[in-house]
Amino acid sequence: MRSPGPRLIRAAPSSPASTAVHWICPPCPIIEASPATVVAARALSRRYGQDDTAVHALRCVSLNIEREKLTAVMGPSGSGKSTLMHLLAGLDRPTSGEVWIDGTNVTKLGDTQLTKLRRRHIGFVFQFFNLLPMLTAEENVLLPLSLAGRTPDAAWHVELLASMGLGERRTHRPSELSGGQQQRVAIARALVTRPTVVFADEPTGNLDSQTGAEVLELLRRAVDAYGQTTVMVTHDATAAAIADRILFLTDGEIVEDLGPTSAQDVLTTLAALGSMATGSK
Ligand code: ADP
Ligand code: MG
Repeated sequence: MRSPGPRLIRAAPSSPASTAVHWICPPCPIIEASPATVVAARALSRRYGQDDTAVHALRCVSLNIEREKLTAVMGPSGSGKSTLMHLLAGLDRPTSGEVWIDGTNVTKLGDTQLTKLRRRHIGFVFQFFNLLPMLTAEENVLLPLSLAGRTPDAAWHVELLASMGLGERRTHRPSELSGGQQQRVAIARALVTRPTVVFADEPTGNLDSQTGAEVLELLRRAVDAYGQTTVMVTHDATAAAIADRILFLTDGEIVEDLGPTSAQDVLTTLAALGSMATGSK
């Protein structure tokens, strides 16, 4: 277990003329990118609100996400998991720190450039699917390509629909599909551009356990069969146990970083972190 990480501290205004309050972040442990790094966070912080009511959702997080690996992110509700995912995916901007995606510092990009980079490099799977109701399954899957002005590779999207078990459902609209089928459409939509990285924020959170297990199996298969780098938030120890790496967040900080871990050991780690947070033994 690493020692407690740095805390944000409130600093005095930089000059007597300034009334602004500056939040500064003491140096994070320095980590280097490796050749396998595709997404990197450096001293990443996100604060919501100002002054005494501010919520520090993420505090000085530095990490590397490695190519062709499935990384799980766990932690209690409110620990900053979604905030981290949104920042790493360029869906939100940090209060301080940097995000690098495939060698580009995305925190320096304007909105238009960021949108273009996201379309090229990022796939996102949401808990509540976020499909467009008026489009068929196939049209939903193809949407990211048309938004990016790219020509669909028919063989690829047909293979994706088939591998998601949606071959027979391609002309159905979301309202005609089960939750599990809708999430499989959302996964195909995330994979269709062959993005550098797919982020999935509690992809099984709205599914029953059997359907959730099938969805996880598909995410794992995308990593193994297509080399799809994936980062997935989950509450479920069984889900985390399929990952190559598990990050544990507490109160906006990464407090544990494990390799492949059994569901039982994930539960033990969560219990240890829970008792650390409450101060019990
Ligand atoms: P998790 O996904 O781990 O449940 P979140 O990243 O959603 O956690 O939230 C981390 C913290 O930031 C929580 O305290 C949450 O209430 C707060 N938070 C998240 N989004 C906002 C927002 N848009 N405005 C204010 N506070 C927010
Ligand atoms: Mg969340």
